[in-house]
Amino acid sequence: MKLPLDINEIKGFLDPDEGEALFDNCIASAKLGPCLEVGSYCGKSTVYLGEACRLSGTILFAVDHHRGSEEHQQGEEYHDEDLYDEQLGLVDSFKSFRANMRLAELEKTVVPVVAPSEVAARKWATPLGMVFIDGGHSLDAAMTDYQSWSRHVVPGGILAIHDIFPDPNDGGQAPYTIFELAKSSGLFKELPQVRTLGLLKRI
Ligand code: SAH
Ligand code: MG
Repeated sequence: MKLPLDINEIKGFLDPDEGEALFDNCIASAKLGPCLEVGSYCGKSTVYLGEACRLSGTILFAVDHHRGSEEHQQGEEYHDEDLYDEQLGLVDSFKSFRANMRLAELEKTVVPVVAPSEVAARKWATPLGMVFIDGGHSLDAAMTDYQSWSRHVVPGGILAIHDIFPDPNDGGQAPYTIFELAKSSGLFKELPQVRTLGLLKRI
């Protein structure tokens, strides 16, 4: 895998092994349809998925309201001053995201959908080759993402979910909960996990 830029230059929350697994699974499923991620932040995962989509001649929809999750807000653990719009009093990761897509030469592959996941999903009708869920980590947000997007994955396609922690001492349980839901739905076959990246193939 060769990325179009130095991935360490992009702020984010993704291990390189997880990024490589996203890339490989996206290459394998992008021929089945366009791909979509929920939770782009500054575009780290977007570069891995976007480059795989570019090489496959397809499109990546990158859904994020760019206002940050709970943990990115002022005073919270993962707040980043550089991504805070003082005038608006809001997080704004879109400027950084957009600059990074330009640097990565992915502007003709990545379609930013700057909206809450549930709004972007409301009228969605396009079958998807791969869906990557890495948005809000409240149970409510994770459930909405699962219900909104997993049903659009085509047979043979991939559903990937980030931040899977089977042990509650290691991290929040919402992504793990929807991962277990997907497994018990009977609609997916589990693939080997890569660090905290859960991977499922639509039967
Ligand atoms: N995938 C990124 C990290 C994503 S962080 C990486 O590789 O670095 C989670 C992102 O989800 C944040 O940017 C936040 O704005 C977004 N998010 C949280 N809840 C959301 C919602 N309901 N709709 C859209 N985006 C949401
Ligand atoms: Mg994550």
